[in-house]
Amino acid sequence: MAYDPNNIFAKILRGEIPCKKVHEDDHTLAFHDINPQAPVHVLVIPKGAYVSMEDFTARASDGEIAALFRAVAQVAEMVGVTAEGWRMLANVGANGGQEVPHLHIHVFGGRRLGPMLVKG
Ligand code: 5GP
Repeated sequence: MAYDPNNIFAKILRGEIPCKKVHEDDHTLAFHDINPQAPVHVLVIPKGAYVSMEDFTARASDGEIAALFRAVAQVAEMVGVTAEGWRMLANVGANGGQEVPHLHIHVFGGRRLGPMLVKG
């Protein structure tokens, strides 16, 4: 899938749409999801234009890749979910249910999150 520079997260990165920022560094931005599915629901995204995990790991630098995973853990610490447990999740492509075509990792917490997948 080609990267669409008009996707909503690209607009957030360009400052065209506001977000409730949790964390930012040279390579990543993290912000609260607009429609939270749990008491804590934060999205962590690379600043680079990557659609998917396979696109990211093929084209991103080692520094960008390390930064994304470090940011996920830092965000989990910052929002206070590490003691009781949390979940990270990335929907990729059509079968994954990805709605926004800019790679993002969801950080969920604040309650028992239940089964990993809906059965069926
Ligand atoms: P996906 O289904 O692609 O894995 O997740 C996309 C997520 O982006 C959804 O959880 C949705 O609520 C969130 N989202 C969509 N538009 C916006 C927006 O404008 N701002 C923020 N903060 N989150 C958004």
